[in-house]
Amino acid sequence: MTDKIVRATAAQEHIRAFAVDSTDMVREAREIHHTFPVVTAALGRLLSAGAMMGSMMKGEDDLITITVKGDGPIGSITVTADSHGNVKGFPGNPSVDIPPRIEPDSGAVKLDVGGAVGSGILTVSMDLGLKEPYNGQVELQTGEIGEDLAYYFTVSEQTPSAVALGVMVGTDSSVLHSGGFIIQLMPDAPEEVIAALESKLAGLDPVTTLMERGLGPAEILELVLGDLDLIVTEEKPIRFHCNCSRERVSHALATLNTADLKSMIDDGEDIEIKCFFCNSAYKFGPDELKEMLAQRGE
Ligand code: ZN
Repeated sequence: MTDKIVRATAAQEHIRAFAVDSTDMVREAREIHHTFPVVTAALGRLLSAGAMMGSMMKGEDDLITITVKGDGPIGSITVTADSHGNVKGFPGNPSVDIPPRIEPDSGAVKLDVGGAVGSGILTVSMDLGLKEPYNGQVELQTGEIGEDLAYYFTVSEQTPSAVALGVMVGTDSSVLHSGGFIIQLMPDAPEEVIAALESKLAGLDPVTTLMERGLGPAEILELVLGDLDLIVTEEKPIRFHCNCSRERVSHALATLNTADLKSMIDDGEDIEIKCFFCNSAYKFGPDELKEMLAQRGE
């Protein structure tokens, strides 16, 4: 596993930055969910963002969930991350096959993530151990995910941000590269810092093109922020990881109402419950369901 996240500051802490290599994570997500290329790209972009946004949280048990819900054929994409680099996610519909998009300027052929996602809402929900989770919501701008998140940070968190996310899918549908960065301006960043950053970003190649040239997350940040006194503050591994277990699923089952449990028992067959995030299947027999009822005295 070579996936990692790099955190950095620049311009005397007027800028904070995050960059990831999420290639292995997105390969794993593709295997788990059997995603078609455009879905691999959409889910992969959101997984990269999740890894970076998870690492923005400070608490041991903090969790962030990002949901992109559009009217396109994917339906919705959900990603959950913790602050330790564990990220998981799933698409509403993994089998989307739509024609690619041709870039008007360059003529380049791109997976049409925006078309697969459609118009809709981006929701960010943070469970920071407080009574109520924090919820932020914005309308999707393009459905390309990077631009939607940049808009979210600017509007909902009042933090102007540049978000670049990319997944390069090969002709055989395999994941060649996946990564991205988030660069954020802290309050009262001087005009000359903003101008310098903007001009750097304007001439920058797509993240996956940089990765194809062999650049890792730290080198990509160096390329953008090297002239602005970049200081890398942390580098750590990230991974696709689901924390589901038989015990957790069993707890969820036990919260079903008595009538539902009884009807499952009457069917007399094993029931199988699949985890949305990692597709692990858990089987429960009628006897185990009876035991659940017995434990609540029914
Ligand atoms: Zn799971």
